Amino acid sequence: MTTAEQPLLSVRNLVKNFSVKGGVFRREVDRVHAVNNVSFDLEKGETLGVVGESGCGKSTTGRCILRLIEPTSGEIWFQGNDVTAMGKAELQAVRRDMQIIFQDPYASLNPRMTVGAIIGEALTIHKLAATPKEYEARIVQLLETVGLNPDHMRRYPHEFSGGQRQRIGIARALAVSPKLIVCDEPVSALDVSIQAQVINLLEDLQEEFGLTYIFIAHDLSVVEHISDRVAVMYLGRVVELAPSRELYTSPLHPYTEALLSAVPIPDPSIKRERIRLVGDVPSPIRPPSGCHFHTRCPIRQLPLCSTEIPDFEEKRPGHWAACHLR
Ligand code: SF4
Repeated sequence: MTTAEQPLLSVRNLVKNFSVKGGVFRREVDRVHAVNNVSFDLEKGETLGVVGESGCGKSTTGRCILRLIEPTSGEIWFQGNDVTAMGKAELQAVRRDMQIIFQDPYASLNPRMTVGAIIGEALTIHKLAATPKEYEARIVQLLETVGLNPDHMRRYPHEFSGGQRQRIGIARALAVSPKLIVCDEPVSALDVSIQAQVINLLEDLQEEFGLTYIFIAHDLSVVEHISDRVAVMYLGRVVELAPSRELYTSPLHPYTEALLSAVPIPDPSIKRERIRLVGDVPSPIRPPSGCHFHTRCPIRQLPLCSTEIPDFEEKRPGHWAACHLR
């Protein structure tokens, strides 16, 4: 049980390495450091935005929390229980409370199943409908909740647009009345006009059902309005974590500043200088020494930044960052 003081979710020192195998004997020849020492808390009803470029470890972090990917080390406390220590039965039970919405609504729905069967699958697994009538009534209710027509239950995913398919994915996640939903880039594959509709729907559902979200995106502008706090990741590490408004108005980490400089400002009278980072994101197989960002940082100080890993510290109340100079 969660208490007033206890967060719904606590992630502590989460690490995920992937083996790169090679040679005749398929031995480990390298290791991808996908998630490196990530820690954060999440309060009930809160939305944490997680942002960073491709390969920064944000999706891997989300999947490790649900143990869809096994973490290499670290702790994941959900409602006071360590998810990493759970056996199969316990994990299945806790997955009722923790759901995921995937990025690609085209690939994440089984094309051979009707929409009703897709949404109803979890009702069957978790024995949440006593009779066929109850089962159908719940599917109708879920379709209506996400703004779809009850008649859609007999149709197949290919008959729907991208935005509608994402709504089906959301209905599937809601079927088990979860507490936490990991939204893994839920709008990245959608047209900009549809993105706002899906985000608005997620916000409405959060209010109605008291949901807690981890909202993963590669673009800061997408998470700005939905997030209470935002975590910025770079090469497997959280480099900055702050309340949303503070992160957007007074960022501390040079990487966050660069990401923000690319976000268009609706008011044309406000000018913001674009910070163009040099080079590509380094390989997570051999991340740079010291601060991982030092090879691209416009304000780095050598040799400090290339030799010492900056601590992830609370620089202002509730505002954490990993930088020697800020
Ligand atoms: Fe830049 Fe150094 Fe700060 Fe890293 S620690 S972000 S390299 S100034």
